[in-house]
Amino acid sequence: MPELPEVETIVNSLRPRVVGKTIIGIVVRDTRPIQQIGVEEFCRRLMGRSIRGLSRRGKYIIFSLSHKNNLVVHLRMTGALLWNPAGPEPFSRLEFVLDDRSKLVYTDVRRFGTFCLARDAGKIVGKLGIEPLNKEFTRPALAAYLGTRSTPVKTALLNQERIAGIGNMYADEALFAAGIHPLRPSSSLKPQEIAALHRSIRAVLKKAVKNQGASIRNYRQPDGEAGRAHEEFAVAHRGGQACPHCSTTITRIVVGQRGTYLCPHCQTAPGMTTLKSRTKGLTGQ
Ligand SMILES: [Zn+2]
Repeated sequence: MPELPEVETIVNSLRPRVVGKTIIGIVVRDTRPIQQIGVEEFCRRLMGRSIRGLSRRGKYIIFSLSHKNNLVVHLRMTGALLWNPAGPEPFSRLEFVLDDRSKLVYTDVRRFGTFCLARDAGKIVGKLGIEPLNKEFTRPALAAYLGTRSTPVKTALLNQERIAGIGNMYADEALFAAGIHPLRPSSSLKPQEIAALHRSIRAVLKKAVKNQGASIRNYRQPDGEAGRAHEEFAVAHRGGQACPHCSTTITRIVVGQRGTYLCPHCQTAPGMTTLKSRTKGLTGQ
C-alpha cells in the first residue's frame, strides 16, 4: 500500500504537470472508485474545472479545484495515478483529459481506491494526526502519545488519527533503525528509545521520499517508473535474509494482524533485559 513517501512522490511529480490545467474530458471505465455520488454528478462537477493546487494529507491526495471543490483520492492497496502513459493500461478505471491534451489515468488492480468530491476536504480525510515530517512532530509530542498507550509500539505508529502517513513498511523500518522490538508496549519505551524512534521515523521517511517511494507490489510513479526505496530496506519484506547489521536472519511475525519484519538480535523482545544498541560493536558477533 502506498504510504507517506509514495503519496508524497506522486503529488510532487504531478503538481507541475497538472496544476493550472482544466479538466475537459472524463472516461469512466469502472464506477467503483467513485464514492458518495453517481457517475453523472461526478463528471458534471469535474468537467470544466481547473486544478488550482495539489497536496498530500496522510495518505490522501487532494486536488483543489475551481468553484471551491476538492477531489480527494486514496489509492488504498494498488491504486496508481499515471500521467500520459505510453500505451493502454490494463487496469485503467478512470481517465481525466486535461486542456493541454495530457491524460491522467487512474489504474487499480484490486479496486479499493476511492475518489470523493467535497467542498471541505477535511470531511473526507477525517481525523488525521500529526504529519511526521512537519515541525509539530516533536520528540515530546511522540513521547506524550506513546506514554499513554499500552498497545504494541508498532500498532501505535500505524494509528492514522495520531500520526498520519506511516504504514506497515515504514513502521518496520523505523523500529529497526531505532533498535526497538515492534511488540514492546508503547508506554515501556525509555526516553532515549523515544528519541531514537523519533529520529528514525523522520530519517526513514525522508530517505524514502528521496528515493521516490518503494515499489513493493504495484506502486509506480506517475511517469510509470518504479521507486527505489525498497532497495534500501533493512528489514521490511526481507524475511529470511540477513540483517545488514548483525547477519541474524530477519524474521516475520504478526503484530495487530499486520505482517511485521524484524531482526531478533538488534530488536530485543519485550521482557528481555537490556536493549542492545545496534549502532556500534555488533558486527563480528
Ligand atoms: Zn540484526
